[in-house]
Amino acid sequence: MSTMKAIQLIRPGEWPELREVPIPRPGPGQILLRITAAGLCHIDVTVVERVAAERNYRLPQTLGHECAGRVVDAGDGVKHLVNMSEDVLVYGPWGCGRCRQCAEGYENYCYNARARGIFPPGLGRDGGAAEYMLVDRARYLVPIKDLDPVQAVPLTDAALTPYHALQHSRAKLDANSYAVVFGVGGLGHVAIQLIKHLTPARVIALDVSERHLALAKEMGADYAFRSNADAVEIVQDLTHGQGAEVVFDFAGVQASIDLGAKMTKVRGDWNIVGIGGGKATVGFGVVPYECNVFSPYWGTRGELYDVVALARRGVIKLHVEEHPLEDGEATFQRLYAGQVMGRAVLTP
Ligand SMILES: [Zn+2]
Ligand SMILES: [Zn+2]
Repeated sequence: MSTMKAIQLIRPGEWPELREVPIPRPGPGQILLRITAAGLCHIDVTVVERVAAERNYRLPQTLGHECAGRVVDAGDGVKHLVNMSEDVLVYGPWGCGRCRQCAEGYENYCYNARARGIFPPGLGRDGGAAEYMLVDRARYLVPIKDLDPVQAVPLTDAALTPYHALQHSRAKLDANSYAVVFGVGGLGHVAIQLIKHLTPARVIALDVSERHLALAKEMGADYAFRSNADAVEIVQDLTHGQGAEVVFDFAGVQASIDLGAKMTKVRGDWNIVGIGGGKATVGFGVVPYECNVFSPYWGTRGELYDVVALARRGVIKLHVEEHPLEDGEATFQRLYAGQVMGRAVLTP
């Protein structure tokens, strides 16, 4: 058999489609994975709606930037670097590997990726929502050992992204501290678990959906409230009028950003992680004194090893709904309608 099924974006703004396409062959340095699981993420909706057009993506393109697979073939020059039949996750934010950011492990902030046409899988080149996928470098493969690929695949983004955001704010989360988590979706439900496990701080989860607030409590949030104008007063009351040491905004829409500005403490950290397109206004008297505003993106390769280790120890439990790849179109529509709880994962 030389063809495979893939969920592809054909034209920006239109539903992705299940198509029959050729199985790719690994060129020099490349590895071929037989996909075991692919996570769908809210950014996929944004890609379909506008990013693919804005960035001139080569279309059709297979979606899926959360990818798990088994190594089944490798091109010249790389065979000695990989283990056939090994189960792996794919590190997503590919970089040049040479610049100062990449040298420090921050491939997610590579200076050259954009200019050199290096895209993450599923975000500018073919991703994992298919039966097979090519990976350009052996270093992007992180072994999952005994983890179930369906459970593990959201680690590549839904866990890696909040874990990375937590790193620079961790020192502020002591036993007297509060962390606010906006948005209990794919990333937020993992963020709650990470904060609870890695820090002694109390977590206040905010969301617009009652089901997501129930999930927040299940994941260990100390408090869970509706994200609306009243939430500011609730957070101020809980924190004795001082605000939370750290705010993590996994929605990033204008409404959550406007609320976040009023909940962050003096010298606190305000992490705007979500890609909801909201804009923060920053200036004297507008944000709390000496407040740090962060705009993190994804995470490092080392951090992906960390979240895999945490998952193997049972610290991170991913709330996953599994759908067959053939149902990818319908699953995408569920995601678009905000019906997915935790993470939607496609399996070929
Ligand atoms: Zn994502
Ligand atoms: Zn680089």
